[in-house]
Amino acid sequence: MKVRFDEIPADGLRLTITDEAWFPDHELERRGKVAAAVVLRRDGNRVFVEGSLSVTVVLTCDRCLEPFARELVEDFQVDCEFAESGPFLDGADEHEIDAAEMDTIMLDEPAVELYELLAEQVFLAMPARMLCADECRGLCSGCGIDLNKGQCRCGTKESASPFKVLAGLKDIKK
Ligand SMILES: [Zn+2]
Ligand SMILES: [Zn+2]
Repeated sequence: MKVRFDEIPADGLRLTITDEAWFPDHELERRGKVAAAVVLRRDGNRVFVEGSLSVTVVLTCDRCLEPFARELVEDFQVDCEFAESGPFLDGADEHEIDAAEMDTIMLDEPAVELYELLAEQVFLAMPARMLCADECRGLCSGCGIDLNKGQCRCGTKESASPFKVLAGLKDIKK
């Protein structure tokens, strides 16, 4: 959904997004509804987007490879700038670097792709480490058993074959 700069009134544009079409369902599994609200404020060639979103997604644990649900709640602020580029804009490269540092999205037209922006925020809200629980015990490096569910029987043998681990992972992923 595009919001053109000239559609944003002087006192800002407040939107509650009930349409879920923006959610990247092809990349991320979710449970239930996704809620998002944004406020857009315009200042000349800049639009400041402030918003929040919440959604429950299904992730895969890095340690035990089991799926788990996690609620993502994200407040975000993004500065969008429309820069009319021209052949006389010598400092363009330098300008873009500055913009990146300031969390500014450079636009090639005076319109904000709101749905794209929201989808990006979902990925930014993802945890750096995907763990079903902080205390997840993961898989045994020897036999591949899920240590949250069962007791490893291979002991702490130093000679555990890495191929056995891979075999274990394959079984669990099925
Ligand atoms: Zn886990
Ligand atoms: Zn084991």
